[in-house]
Amino acid sequence: MSRMIFMNGDLVPEEEAKVSVFDHGFLYGDGVFEGIRAYGGKVFRLAEHVDRLYESAHCILLNIPYTPEEMQQAIIDTVRANDLHDAYIRVVVSRGKGDLGLNPKNCPGCQVVIIAGKIAIYPEERYRDGIEAVTVPTRRNVVGALDPRIKSLNYLNNILAHIEAARAGAREALMLNSEGYVTEGAADNIFVYRRGMLLTPPVYLGILEGITRDAVMLLACEEGIPVREIPITRHDIYTGDECFVTGTAAEIMPIVEVDGRAVGTGTPGPVTRRLTELYRELVLDEGVPLA
Ligand code: PMP
Repeated sequence: MSRMIFMNGDLVPEEEAKVSVFDHGFLYGDGVFEGIRAYGGKVFRLAEHVDRLYESAHCILLNIPYTPEEMQQAIIDTVRANDLHDAYIRVVVSRGKGDLGLNPKNCPGCQVVIIAGKIAIYPEERYRDGIEAVTVPTRRNVVGALDPRIKSLNYLNNILAHIEAARAGAREALMLNSEGYVTEGAADNIFVYRRGMLLTPPVYLGILEGITRDAVMLLACEEGIPVREIPITRHDIYTGDECFVTGTAAEIMPIVEVDGRAVGTGTPGPVTRRLTELYRELVLDEGVPLA
């Protein structure tokens, strides 16, 4: 059975889900997207993801022709149409078909696509052993140029970081901002546990305001772990006791080595393991039911 894709209000087989070469998402990366997950028949943080999609769209002056509630329903319908209980869901809203000029006024309507598929997660041993990260040469987008809070289709900044990390033999990239402060991974937020406090960079330094990041900060607070959103440098990570990245796809991934320096003992630490346990419970416990 072929996968069913939501295309502008209809669920169509994958083979029929086609986008024009004149779509400005293709020509210019002009659009926004979201990555969402369903666990055990429930969509985790659905409203939060849809809200972030609409905020991103608003910031790039893109009008989505559905209410957020209709979008939530379309996402649920797409997962159900594919008979999935555990899923990774990609929502893409591009500026739509226009001409070769960049003027969005020549795009009469945006293109809304929802893809639901099985999640390809890291193998369990990665969570057990952790991964290495390296600081990459490409700096995170400057807030005043293209704010990383906008989850736009223009992901070249992150893709370059990913390529540079891979070429250096690391699975995760550590991206700095123009001032040298740590921002985030290629597609994940970063945390460091140091001197009894869980630290994560504030949003104003130029990061995506991750939904997993938010969930992890709340879990840590509930566990009595002090959490601070403060600018951090590579030094804080090199000398930290634990480090991990968070994201919808990766969940909580321990970082055990950064730029050749072991972080703490060089193995996933107790805070990372405890938060992973709590997060795994949370995603099964909370969420919008599909049925
Ligand atoms: N930063 C970037 C650049 C990302 O692409 C993602 C993944 N969407 C994240 C952080 C993590 O965000 P979330 O927890 O909302 O998936």
